[in-house]
Amino acid sequence: MTTRLYTHPIFLEHLTPPGHPERPDRLRAIERVLDDEAFAGLDRVQAPEGDEATILYAHPADFVARVRAAIPEEGIARIDADTTASPKSWQAAITAIGAANAAVDDVFSGRADNAFVAARPPGHHAEKTTAMGFCLFNTAAVAARYAQKKHGVERVAVVDWDVHHGNGTQDIFWDDPSVLYCSTHQMPLYPGTGAKSETGAGNIVNAPLAPQTGSEVFRDAFLSRVLPALDNFAPDLIIVSAGFDAHHRDPLAEINLTEDDFDWVTGQLMQRAARHSGNRLVSLLEGGYDLQGLAFSVAAHVGRLMKG
Ligand SMILES: [Zn+2]
Repeated sequence: MTTRLYTHPIFLEHLTPPGHPERPDRLRAIERVLDDEAFAGLDRVQAPEGDEATILYAHPADFVARVRAAIPEEGIARIDADTTASPKSWQAAITAIGAANAAVDDVFSGRADNAFVAARPPGHHAEKTTAMGFCLFNTAAVAARYAQKKHGVERVAVVDWDVHHGNGTQDIFWDDPSVLYCSTHQMPLYPGTGAKSETGAGNIVNAPLAPQTGSEVFRDAFLSRVLPALDNFAPDLIIVSAGFDAHHRDPLAEINLTEDDFDWVTGQLMQRAARHSGNRLVSLLEGGYDLQGLAFSVAAHVGRLMKG
């Protein structure tokens, strides 16, 4: 497998207030663990700046203008109780979108079989018209629509194993049966959405997990709900909203996964990508707030992407 890794120094310049869990050190921890010689075979690429017009694939123009107007010239501006912007946040968010779209290009051109985008801010809580939950724009949603528009594919699946429900991705694709959205997440937990009964146009598959459950319940949710939905949908591309906050060390949730579970689930999705989508899989970093749990989980995930 050829696995591309997209990073960019600008992702460290999206600043959050002291004590905020979504902090630049997360990417430094990922960078350190991927420096190991086990990852020497990664095809490392600096993320290109994104095309702002592609944000409109998932968000209306007046919302984009509102986010831009909220970017401060100095200091940190509050967008909601836990979502903030600093002077470089716009450029960071645009570059995250640029990286995700470039990774989509790579898996369609054959330059890579799969890719991992280590970017921040994350994206899966950003709804059509609301920035929230540490997220400004929904990078995964933009990338899914980008694949449809630029590469002419019909069906894209977004699989989200972040411990929080991706309310934003669900909102954007609620009535769009060309995109399958599957999520495992702790419930109850922020943002409160993600019940099994939320099914959109039949294209939304939510598999909520009870607090204090772990590997067995998580794997069963994939085996009984997510993977059958993927086989039924037969996507042309799989996009992963890869949050690692279901790790047992994570301070924001109470699901007890280990890095072995992220290795396993990555392998399961790669099998489906091999079966349906010519191996094409693009993974985007979402949450993960314990630096050690995050680093070990990303190592397991990216190691599996490389090995197949
Ligand atoms: Zn999360």
